[in-house]
Amino acid sequence: MPRALITGITGQDGSYLAEALLADGFEVHGLVRPHRDLASSAIAHLVNDPALHGQRLFLHRADLAEPATLRRALLATQPDELYHLAGPSHVGLSFELPESTCHGVAFGALRWLEMLRDLPRPPRFFQATSAEIFGRPALAPQDEQTPSVPVTPYGCAMAFARHLVGVYRASYGLFACCGILYNHESPRRGESFVTRKICRAAAAIRQGHQQELWLGDLDAARDWGHARDYVQAMRLMLRHDQPADYVLATGQLHTVRDVLEVAFGVVGLDWRRYVKSDPGLLRPAEPARLVGNTAKARQDLGWSPTTSFEDLIREMTEAEVRASTDSRPSAS
Ligand code: GDP
Repeated sequence: MPRALITGITGQDGSYLAEALLADGFEVHGLVRPHRDLASSAIAHLVNDPALHGQRLFLHRADLAEPATLRRALLATQPDELYHLAGPSHVGLSFELPESTCHGVAFGALRWLEMLRDLPRPPRFFQATSAEIFGRPALAPQDEQTPSVPVTPYGCAMAFARHLVGVYRASYGLFACCGILYNHESPRRGESFVTRKICRAAAAIRQGHQQELWLGDLDAARDWGHARDYVQAMRLMLRHDQPADYVLATGQLHTVRDVLEVAFGVVGLDWRRYVKSDPGLLRPAEPARLVGNTAKARQDLGWSPTTSFEDLIREMTEAEVRASTDSRPSAS
């Protein structure tokens, strides 16, 4: 049975990827931080399935800041494919925590690459990077040739990781690939990201649990896709003949205002009555015109996203409505 090792398995992307690899017939190993509570994680449903957990899904306690724990897990599992998805993921927070962001992202990649370099049969390696590496590109859409000119600490760290993967691929012949991921969301997205924040608020306001929603820049625009689509591309990249980097995106820009329109529309409310502006949520610098060209992924991998922006935000809002209905105490 082919074997995969996933860092960040308890997160949004890791959980969808674990589902996809289990469906492919893989034995899936995931690294989990020592104190991570699995019951509240995005893989709770997999962990609670006795046909999977301990049979084809195995979790190993490890910490990215403790290289020995990574090495041990790597040697114990000897995977065919290694997906490195763990690490700091919040762009806004990277202005507050620049050192830990740079350390986590950049050294996280470096550690794996150094370990793989020493193995006689290294696994194929996927590194998640971000469209934040492009910063404020002169041209839109961006592709794999677009220069990295990041404007955030997170973007700088991701650019380092991306270039390092290229160096190790060329210098040591590793089958190592980067996904240059544009924003990707789902009902499993962290609550501080703007799509999830808006969808949660729309459901809570509809149900009378919340009165208002404080946001930063409503004109900020992103290329938002569904995480479930993007993990499909990660697997395809590691099964392709040649290792390469790929832009994963939808090719369409939408604003925070568009998210508000769809999410509040799903619950039948006018967002203008509830949204308030919080200058504290404005960022010192915003990337501009980040929209991806996925021609290479379409051509080499036969990949294209399947979920539209409207369907994505609808799915997220409906999930929030269900979650807040389920958690409400019953009237009896
Ligand atoms: P990011 O692209 O990884 O930073 O994803 P986010 O979901 O955190 O932010 C997407 C965009 O929404 C950014 O341009 C933010 O400036 C903008 N935005 C506006 N209001 C908010 C807010 O209240 N929270 C967050 N997280 N982003 C906001």
